[in-house]
Amino acid sequence: MSKKRVYFFGNGTAEGEAGMKLLLGGKGANLAEMNLIGVPVPPGFTITTEVCKEYYELGKEKLIEELTDDVHASIRRVEELMHSKFGDVENPLLVSVRSGAPASMPGMMDTILNLGLNDAVVEGLARKTNNPRFAWDSYRRFVQMYGDVVLGMKPTNKEDIDPFEQIIQDVKAKKGVELDTELEVEDLKELVRLFKDAVRKQTGHDFPEDAYDQLWGAVGAVFGSWMNERAILYRKMERIPEEWGTAVNVQAMVFGNMGDTSATGVCFSRNAATGENIFNGEYLVNAQGEDVVAGIRTPQQITKEGSLRWAKRAGVSEEVRRKEMPSLEEAMPEIYDELNMLQQKLEDHYHDMQDMEFTVQEGKLWFLQTRNGKRTGRAMVKIAMDLLHEGQIDEKEALLRVEPNKLDELLHPVFRKDALVNATKITSGLPASPGAATGKIVFFAEDAATLHNDGAERVILVRNETSPEDLAGMQVAEGILTARGGMTSHAAVVARGMGKCCVSGAGALQIDYKARTLTVEGKTYHEGDFISLNGSTGDVYAGMVDTQAAELDPDFEALMELADKYAKLEVRANADTAHDANIARSFGAKGIGLCRTEHMFFEGEKIKAMRSMILSETPEGRRKALERILPYQKEDFKNIFREMHNLPVTVRLLDPPLHEFVPHDAKGQEEMAKDMGISVEKIRHRVESLSEQNPMLGHRGCRLGNTYPEITEMQTRAILTAALELKREGIEVLPEIMVPLTGILYEFKEQERVIRDTARKVFDEMGDSTEYKVGTMIEVPRAALTADRIATSAEFFSFGTNDLTQMTFGYSRDDIASFLPIYLEKKILRVDPFQVLDRKGVGQLIKMATEKGRDIRPELKCGICGEHGGEPTSVKFCHSLGLNYVSCSPFRVPIARLAAAQAAIEQK
Ligand code: PEP
Ligand code: MG
Repeated sequence: MSKKRVYFFGNGTAEGEAGMKLLLGGKGANLAEMNLIGVPVPPGFTITTEVCKEYYELGKEKLIEELTDDVHASIRRVEELMHSKFGDVENPLLVSVRSGAPASMPGMMDTILNLGLNDAVVEGLARKTNNPRFAWDSYRRFVQMYGDVVLGMKPTNKEDIDPFEQIIQDVKAKKGVELDTELEVEDLKELVRLFKDAVRKQTGHDFPEDAYDQLWGAVGAVFGSWMNERAILYRKMERIPEEWGTAVNVQAMVFGNMGDTSATGVCFSRNAATGENIFNGEYLVNAQGEDVVAGIRTPQQITKEGSLRWAKRAGVSEEVRRKEMPSLEEAMPEIYDELNMLQQKLEDHYHDMQDMEFTVQEGKLWFLQTRNGKRTGRAMVKIAMDLLHEGQIDEKEALLRVEPNKLDELLHPVFRKDALVNATKITSGLPASPGAATGKIVFFAEDAATLHNDGAERVILVRNETSPEDLAGMQVAEGILTARGGMTSHAAVVARGMGKCCVSGAGALQIDYKARTLTVEGKTYHEGDFISLNGSTGDVYAGMVDTQAAELDPDFEALMELADKYAKLEVRANADTAHDANIARSFGAKGIGLCRTEHMFFEGEKIKAMRSMILSETPEGRRKALERILPYQKEDFKNIFREMHNLPVTVRLLDPPLHEFVPHDAKGQEEMAKDMGISVEKIRHRVESLSEQNPMLGHRGCRLGNTYPEITEMQTRAILTAALELKREGIEVLPEIMVPLTGILYEFKEQERVIRDTARKVFDEMGDSTEYKVGTMIEVPRAALTADRIATSAEFFSFGTNDLTQMTFGYSRDDIASFLPIYLEKKILRVDPFQVLDRKGVGQLIKMATEKGRDIRPELKCGICGEHGGEPTSVKFCHSLGLNYVSCSPFRVPIARLAAAQAAIEQK
């Protein structure tokens, strides 16, 4: 049997179902499923994602050959159900052609509506509907969309205007009208004629009149849009595999622009920004779907409650609201009741918040799409916990519903209250995506990227409305402000997906792209001026307003508790100060997995003492310097231990690239010469002698402790004295002393000897003792290979996956940037191995070392403390290896806790 490429749906039957997302795309699978559960959906068919691959392998012509029979047969079935005929003049069937990938990629690929119209059919449609204006308006939209998408007439330069929009503007100017709706039938006819002239002029071909020619053109364009720039960028951002491909959905058109009993809208079963369980959405009477999301007309609210809230925010009087902007609930109560019933049915069916598109054609409601709605991190947590409490999902499912990385957004900044008191509010728009942002105004996405310059400048992207081409600029902006568009506009949806602050539809803004200015209430702001946005209230402020970290809400706390119930891996934090330790503890860290002691020396007097220790050429000189350092170290350790009382703290012995700590400038060298009472010449000489060809592989880690054991002695003394002094205060401290960069058992043993000897001395001197452990980093491949030998001495292993990645790949941590982008582009590497743990190579070393270590010492505690400890897929991998803990930066602790729980749940 030949391969099935086309799946039909319609009239309560479907060949596909919701579980077939990979083959039919999210949209296709859901269209099939909606049919099966009795939601009214216009009939149509889905061409599978596998065909997308064939399109790229075989080319368009060959594919049309393969698909022709199936597509013709499916069109005939749609014709039967819709009692009309594709390409027929008297009784035409029109179709939409849309993309639909397995993962949602809103607005990234192409769509064509009203396909099947031509010069003859449009007349038939006008007669059939008795509505020439509607027929010609549909036709001009079709020619424009087809021209842009299939015939490639979309402008490539941002400042250029779409050729079709230019024609519309010219015709409106000639006629002296402002709105599209003021154009009459004769004007629309004129538009179509001018559009077609433009097509002929620009492409050298006539606009295709044959319905099937149009269909094949559109199918090819949708498959082709899988590889357009913005789709590729979006996939990279969202980590959607390129191999998936998109499906193509061909579906009978229904029209929301057939007069005042027709409408179109987008709705959500819960609030996508806050997670509140309130049905909400927007609609427009006598309009087509893209009008709602394009932000050209201000849409009306679906529910009365939403409408009242909107009016209050927008300063619209109740009289005007009721007359000009009524809710669907008030304007079309029967349709609203049906819509409300069906949205609940869909949410109950999918057990998740739904994002739905609908059209009302002359009083009949049709659903065009449903999908699990994109949402902010905050909404994601709230909805998961609410669905759990409502009994719709169980605990495990609630945990799996939250993307670990999205928790980042809950930790987003808000404006500082005191800063807000003095801030000048200049206008407000819709609170499209929460958080606070402050930055310099830019008007073009490209400029946002340039000015941002890898974080050098914070920018706010300000536009009338955004489109998918603006994606790269939105990605680097702190926040996005638009003059037009509702809560479902492109800017709002995409910003929410990115977890980025956004205020949309701030109608008072007048933007002049040419002059690069923004005017509001008579005041003009220029590109480069600072503004600030509050995406939670919709308020816009002039100038910079200081922000502060977010406060965590009870749903977040409850989710985290739930995560701990299922997680097997413990999560610790990498923290070098009492402040970071405090944050780590408040985020639920179960200890410190890595305290990098060299980071404790970056400031003031401490750096001088550290420098004189490094610059000393004799053990006596070093000892003197170390005596200066000891009290600082002890105090720092006490502060950290106090914060982490009752929890283990792994303190790593000094592991500095020495050259980073010594002064390279004349002023610094003079200062040190004075401090140490020796000549500048000597200092300069010593600095030069410390310089290394490859410091990352140089005199660092335990190589330092083994050549200068007095450093290890001093640090052990500081750690254990701090612990004993706190013990006297009744504070329990669980210190773990960790040797860095071990490669040879004897490197470790030699350090362990110094630590244990010093400990004995300290305990004797203080007449007291405390428990402590001595373990090692495993970050040199040789250490992993000989882990069974090292475990004879070491009481714990902590995998330093930063160095282990560096040394396993042979990629310098400092120099990888010169070739990594090309490796990623050529797919030699799929991801940066310094971000996502390499399972096959580095992972194998970790697995082997853990097994070898535990063979010798079954209770051996193993964890990782490289950057991978906070990356969800790496955390899951660590779980699968049976490690005891991961350690990551404090702000990633919640992410790691959730990923650890998901790993445990997914394993079963
Ligand atoms: C590591 O190498 O993974 C590690 C945690 O140590 P550092 O990054 O300090 O070298
Ligand atoms: Mg390291």
